[in-house]
Formats: sequence, C-alpha cells, structure tokens
Amino acid sequence: MNPDPSRRGCAQSRGRFGYNGGLHFRIDHRGVSISDLLQQADLCVKCGLCLPHCPTYRLSGDEGESPRGRIALVQGWAQGRIGGERLYRHLDRCLGCRNCERMCPSEVPYGRLLAETRIAQRAQGRRAGDRLDRLVLDLMPKAPFWGQAQALLKVYQKGPARVLAAVAPQRIRRLNALMPADAGLFDAYGLHPAIGDKRGRVGLFTGCVGRMADRPALAAAIRVLRAWGFEVWVPAGQRCCGALDLHQGDQAQAEALATINRGAFEGQGLAALIGVASGCTAHLAEYDQWGAGWSMPVRDISDFLAAVGPPQGLELRPVRRKVSLHTPCSLRNSLRAESGPARLLALVPGLEVEPLDDGGLCCGAAGGYLVLQPEMAERLREAPLEALRRAAREQLLTSNTGCKLHLAAGLRQAGLDVRVAHPAEVAAEAISAKGSVG
Ligand code: SF4
Ligand code: SF4
Repeated sequence: MNPDPSRRGCAQSRGRFGYNGGLHFRIDHRGVSISDLLQQADLCVKCGLCLPHCPTYRLSGDEGESPRGRIALVQGWAQGRIGGERLYRHLDRCLGCRNCERMCPSEVPYGRLLAETRIAQRAQGRRAGDRLDRLVLDLMPKAPFWGQAQALLKVYQKGPARVLAAVAPQRIRRLNALMPADAGLFDAYGLHPAIGDKRGRVGLFTGCVGRMADRPALAAAIRVLRAWGFEVWVPAGQRCCGALDLHQGDQAQAEALATINRGAFEGQGLAALIGVASGCTAHLAEYDQWGAGWSMPVRDISDFLAAVGPPQGLELRPVRRKVSLHTPCSLRNSLRAESGPARLLALVPGLEVEPLDDGGLCCGAAGGYLVLQPEMAERLREAPLEALRRAAREQLLTSNTGCKLHLAAGLRQAGLDVRVAHPAEVAAEAISAKGSVG
C-alpha cells in the first residue's frame, strides 16, 4: 500500500498536481502537492484505533467507510492505481467530522488530507452530487447577501414553503423542513457599544446560513458580549466563511471569501474574532492553512465568554430549566473548545445541564453533507434523537447552526417537544433585566 518512491519523486519534481487519469501528475493547482498528500497519508500505520470512533464505519461496518480505508484509497488514487465512482463514493460519504484525527496516535492530519484530496479531485473536474445538489450548495453561501433576500424569504415562507412541503420531491422537502418557521434575516450590522466599563472590542462573524436561519443566536451573542463589557463590531461586508466551498474542493472560491472576510475584520482593533456557529469558527481559525491567517485570535463564543467571565457587578438571574448539551464535532475536534459551553452555562444559576449521551458521534449535519448525503444524515441523527427521548429534557443546546437546524427538524418530525437553542441564548436570558443590557 505504501507509495512507490520513484513515482513520488516524479510527482514531487513536477511540483503542484492534478491527476490526469494515469500515473502522471502535472502542475495545475496551487496549494496542494501530491508528495505532501502522500506524506500525510503515509503517517497512517493502519492500526485501526480510529475505527470505533468513525460514525460511517460504525453504521456500515465497511472498511471503505472507515478512516483507515479512506486513507488507503487516497494513497491508491494519488499513485494512479485506483479510481472510479466506487472510490469517490467512499470519500463522499466521509463527514469530515475528524473524530478519527482526534483519536489517532500517529497524528495523521485527516481533515487536511481530505480537504486536499477534494481540491485535487475538483481540479480534475470531479465534484460530488448531482446538478440540483450543486446548485443548492453554490447558492446557499450567497443567498443571505442578496439585496432582496429578506423580501424573498418572506414570500417563500408564505407561499412556496407550504406548497413545497406538500408536493415537492423528497429531497426538496427535506431541505425545506430545515428552515425554522420564524426564520428572518439578521441585519443588525455596525458597531454595538459595550455596557458599563469597556473591556475591549471584538468582531462577530454571522455566517451565511446563520444569518438566514439563526438570528436568535446572533442577537443573543451581541447582547451577552455587550453585557460582558465588549464593544461588538459586526461588519456588513463579511461573507460566508468558505467552509462549504472547501468541502467541495473549491479552494479558489474559499480563498476569495477569506480575503473578503479579512478585509471586513482586520484593522478594527479587535481583541478577538468571535464565531457563533462552531463549524464556521473552526474554518475561520484554520484560514492560515489555506492562505494568510488572522492578526487576532478566533474564538468560539461560549469558550470566550467563559474564559473572560462576566464583569464585576453583573448579576445572572436564575434560569430554572433542565437542558441537554450537544457537542458539535467542529467544537470538539477542530477548535478543541468543547468545554466552553458547559463552563459558560455553569455561570447560570438554576440551570441543570446534562451532556447529550449520543456516543460522541456526528449528528449528520456536517456542512453540505445534509444536502449531498441526506439518507446517511438522517440515519446518523437517530442516535442523538434517541438520546433526547431518554433524557426527556425540555431544551437542547448546541453550538453549531447546521446541527441546530438538522436536530430541530428531526425533533419536529419525531413529534418531540424539545426546543433547540444556542448556549448564548440561555446566557442572554440569564442577564439581569435590571440595567444590565441595552
Ligand atoms: S488511528 Fe491513525 S494511524 Fe491508526 S488507522 Fe486510524 S488514521 Fe491510521
Ligand atoms: S472524518 Fe469522521 S466520517 Fe470521515 S473517516 Fe474520520 S471519523 Fe470517519
């Protein structure tokens, strides 16, 4: 399985790569080289310790659906020994959850390996999904920034959403079911002043899907940051983080979005860039892997708020509620900030928090995975839904917009009366109404 050194030398001497259907690699894409790809894959000693932690392997029992199997497939593909739809199907069904990377004793950088493989495959003209999937994934990051998006969203919710729910093909109905009934565009751009003594200025990243479907979490984030003593800069010029494009191998588009976002946030005297959706935040934090990074730390909101703590004199009022806490893969495996939400929620008197007993596996949302692999996404959602049935809590908290939408849709379909929210929304509730926030 190890690559033939002579071929690797040949590839290396040619520098950047694109696979042209045989054993020859040529320069045609920046940022990825075949020798780098193989070096990363060669770190895998095939021990199999990652297998029990891989959601797709746990579901299928198929080696091709495991991290070890996928790494072997990438090695064979990069050496020009294998190809074809079966290979691509196994790679397409990878969630990119990086559970395997977290567990790997050999420190195989699986997330980067997968991203670079998808970039290389895209460079040779191969893209996952059919035309409709691709259209949805291309439009999704752009839609919230259209000038008339708010009006279009309202018209859609009044008319087409109901019609589609009744008559559209199942895949459209699935997407339609994700949109919360109270969706509305976030539009509170600008500089929001700190309350009380100012402790610094932070930037807030809204995200494309978040802007369209998670206005409550974004509003809560601003409210709590201000009450914590931070001025909040929310530039209207920010765009999608670029993760959806990178998942599909479109490095050029991901880099273009990174450039726009850097222009929107850099030079504003920010102490940190704060993300509300952990999937976006994880990608923002890794911008340096795909070009220039940031001059400031990129932080998950719960982790940031818990670390700096509330200012002296801010009283948090009790929220008497029993909640389940879901941990998104991006928060755990990419940001490594999984303790943040529990630490933030521990500041709220009266709140009873229980980790969701979902086995630590991905819920199936995983960015564009929902669109490209809807059946798998629904099968993977069963474990957290079952855990919620057992827990019988009145609220589920999660730190990623995609997980929130996916789990909320599953709960509605299952007829379970559990409200889904972001931890920042509970923190916002707990801020004393008396003179604490504006
Ligand atoms: S744990 Fe790491 S080294 Fe072992 S099979 Fe998985 S990826 Fe390879
Ligand atoms: S990223 Fe997740 S789904 Fe993909 S191989 Fe690793 S553990 Fe499995």
